[in-house]
Amino acid sequence: MDSASDTAGEDDGLAASWDDWVQGTDDEDDGTARSLFSNEQFPSAEAAIEHDAQEFGFDIVDYVAKTGLDEFGAIKLVNYLRSEVQAGREPLTAVKEAANSTDERPWNDDSYLIPTVRDDALLRIDYQAMIQSRCSTDDGKGATMREMKGRLEALDAENMCLREAFQQLKSEVIWPEVSDIVRATGSMACSQESTLEAGNSKAESLSALSGSQSKEEDDEDSPEFARRTREEANGRVDASYFDSYSCFEIHKAMLSDQVRTKAYQNALQKNSSLVKGKVVLDVGCGTGILSLFACRAGAAQVIAVDGSTWAVDISRKAAAKNGYMGDSPSATMKVLSGKLENLPVMEVDVIISEWMGYGLLFESMLDTVLWARDRWLKPGGALLPDRASLFLAGTTKEGTGLDFWEDVYGFDMSAVADDIRQKARGKVMQEQAKADSIMTESVKIMDFDLMTMSISDVEFTTDFRLPCILTEASEMEDQGLTECHALALWFDVDFSSRFCSDCPVNLTTSPMTDPTHWGQSILLLKDPIKAKWISGRISMVRSDVHRGLDISLEYWPEWEGKKGHKETAIYSV
Ligand code: SAH
Repeated sequence: MDSASDTAGEDDGLAASWDDWVQGTDDEDDGTARSLFSNEQFPSAEAAIEHDAQEFGFDIVDYVAKTGLDEFGAIKLVNYLRSEVQAGREPLTAVKEAANSTDERPWNDDSYLIPTVRDDALLRIDYQAMIQSRCSTDDGKGATMREMKGRLEALDAENMCLREAFQQLKSEVIWPEVSDIVRATGSMACSQESTLEAGNSKAESLSALSGSQSKEEDDEDSPEFARRTREEANGRVDASYFDSYSCFEIHKAMLSDQVRTKAYQNALQKNSSLVKGKVVLDVGCGTGILSLFACRAGAAQVIAVDGSTWAVDISRKAAAKNGYMGDSPSATMKVLSGKLENLPVMEVDVIISEWMGYGLLFESMLDTVLWARDRWLKPGGALLPDRASLFLAGTTKEGTGLDFWEDVYGFDMSAVADDIRQKARGKVMQEQAKADSIMTESVKIMDFDLMTMSISDVEFTTDFRLPCILTEASEMEDQGLTECHALALWFDVDFSSRFCSDCPVNLTTSPMTDPTHWGQSILLLKDPIKAKWISGRISMVRSDVHRGLDISLEYWPEWEGKKGHKETAIYSV
């Protein structure tokens, strides 16, 4: 505080201290530091500064920070204060006034670069470093930051409630549109359960909007409060998730991935008996491509849903431009906006969705697809794709992509690889591993039947044993074995003959076949290992972060009758 009363209150004490000082000695060559305003010695510069802040209300580090003084400015200030005090004057008032004034500062003379006190400890300290370290640890500032973060989170949460309420109101507007579809196809099954759920969430959103929560909902310890808080946080993640699909780049990447897109096209167009004359739900339609394939395959009605308003707008326009949407009663495609889980339910014959994330399950929307399966799919209906599998194999350093940095136009840039390695610790890296970097046989570690699996099945633990492949090159190497630097994880999905009897389709993201935009998920090992087998156990569990996943890995090298050291690693996605 710069108030005059502060200074006045200290004057008497200061006068006495300055008298003491004038009688004191001039030098401090023993590492101790003297107060700027008294003759008192302290064991360190920091202690002297602390003392001056407490006793005289002048913290020189704060002052330097506040007035933006550089190192020379700080030196001049110290020498000015010392010389003023030495001359028996009171410098504090002038110095405090100078902080808020644009006039030339009283110490702004090069003569003050000359030390007033020999070996002055307060001239030897690095003020900028002290300011920096205070900024990172200062409790007051930290508290302000925390307070601001808290306010921001509260505003975010409020924003989310409003968004949800808005979504809900929007679904009321959508509802008549859905009824039209139902009338057109005669296939409505708005179950009591779903009606109830829609009713509940609407009531919740509206009460959040009006701030009329029940007593229990207000109680921060209540399970209801915890549920609402969790839902609000999840809602925020959903909002940013849908935002991430609101730009053309991501859709272009998916559409240009021909392995992916053609697999869906073949599944729909080459199994047209499955689709012809049927009602199809496209979960997460994006640009509407899968819906358009279904229309082309002769679907009677395609309901396309997306939580991204951008995607909804685009697919509506795409449907209209391609003759599948409009005012005519025969228009095939309807595009609904909103999170599928918030929409009224109707019965469909086929559900199609491209829901797979990196490593199949990372940030995936499988939960939404299973939700749709359980509520929207007619008994005997088809889910496309209907199977998914996860695979694991060991890779050489080339499989990690880190070798790139070892020779960049003839220069060693392995510092980048070290940096990536450092930052990737505990994270899964996405790479397109080349086929010849796979140095073990691959093993299937998990199989999901999407028609029967439950949401909790995405959490699993399984053992693996990867036989290392002895290539000609590796046989020449030490022990005939190649170093394993990482494990690569990838997936297949199948449009199996269960539904696609005319033409079953397999979509694989294996490194041994044509690349896809998913590449493989690379789990870097702590250190490279060499062995006949790489054995271990892998677990996947949902993380606390909504849509996140944690992988834990135990692995060890194995030879005939011999096991090496077991390592453990945790990765989050
Ligand atoms: N089907 C498109 C897009 C796939 S990307 C294609 O194959 O090209 C997944 C899409 O699903 C994104 O556009 C995303 O916004 C949408 N999505 C994800 N979860 C959803 C949910 N719960 N409700 C509605 N849309 C969802």
